[in-house]
Amino acid sequence: MPETFRALLVEEAQGETRAGFRDLRDEELPQGDTLVEVAFSSLNYKDALAVTGAGKVVRRFPMVPGIDLAGRILKSSDPSFKLGDLVLATGCGLGETRWGGYAQRARVPSEWLVPLPRGLSLQEAMGLGTAGFTAMISLLILEEHGVAPGGGEVVVTGAAGGVGSLCVALLSALGYKVVASTGRLGETEFLKSLGASEVIGRETLPSLSRPLESEQWAGAVDSVGGATLAGILASASRHGCVVACGLAGDTGLKTTVFPFILRGVTLAGVDSMATPMPRRRKAWERLAKEMPKSALASLMGIRPLSDIPALSQEILAGKIRGRVVVDVSA
Ligand code: NDP
Repeated sequence: MPETFRALLVEEAQGETRAGFRDLRDEELPQGDTLVEVAFSSLNYKDALAVTGAGKVVRRFPMVPGIDLAGRILKSSDPSFKLGDLVLATGCGLGETRWGGYAQRARVPSEWLVPLPRGLSLQEAMGLGTAGFTAMISLLILEEHGVAPGGGEVVVTGAAGGVGSLCVALLSALGYKVVASTGRLGETEFLKSLGASEVIGRETLPSLSRPLESEQWAGAVDSVGGATLAGILASASRHGCVVACGLAGDTGLKTTVFPFILRGVTLAGVDSMATPMPRRRKAWERLAKEMPKSALASLMGIRPLSDIPALSQEILAGKIRGRVVVDVSA
């Protein structure tokens, strides 16, 4: 095994952050009981905030960003993992408080690792990554609140992005009638190919600005926040469930209590980073079985680690469609 490995490292000097490539040694990795050879990672909105320094994502410097990783076990003192086992990890502070997936090796606590579910390749696991995991957690929440296929429309916002496109594909495959909201109407055919029954413009939901609008959505998965989320709440159906998972548009939320007290609407949040392990494993098992492979293949592209700084600018500008899988070996 080579003595050094390649990593993207974010460092801080005089209040400014800078990302650059370095060759590191195992001794420089943080403490942990398990060493993983990382094959693939992915690019999430949060990763771009960390790489560019546009958001206060990194809590310790220097930091290897990358909230997702997938690879094989090189060494572990945990008897449940042996040399060569295929594993993945998402969230858990990776790329924020703990070195993450943008390096060819990672040392992590074994309790953060999920065995690669049967039926998924390492590449597909990172095509899903935190975005797919968030889509599945959103689905679990909708199910837990009684939102079922055939029970009315589910709106997905930021639909051409990572979480959004995976949500459209997953919910459609399970028989939900999915309305995709996007700022890129040029992606209408793409979203329909993932199963969306209708595609609406990004401006539609924020224009629903009265405390209560006519009832439209049995469910919603929102990556955007702000006036978009407020519009969804105002137009949610009686006993509907709205899952808030993102802030791509705005972190604020100005709403009224009427959707909650007059229609019994539920507003539920997703915290993919700290999801407990039993729910994590359940979500990954279901993703492996229920995410349609052809849709996943159509929405993911594979790029080398060296492209991450440039791609980070693109995802923050809302220009990336679907998911970027990062080939860490390249
Ligand atoms: P992407 O950048 O891939 O997708 C975000 C999408 O949001 C864009 O593709 C775009 O979709 C839409 N968008 C971007 N800018 C704006 C804007 N100014 N106004 C309205 N819509 C906009 O990011 P991800 O899918 O990785 O993440 C989506 C959001 O979810 C992020 O805010 C991220 O931080 C959050 N997230 C939260 C998680 C959690 O645990 N709660 C886990 C994962 C992600 P379109 O072009 O279709 O309009």
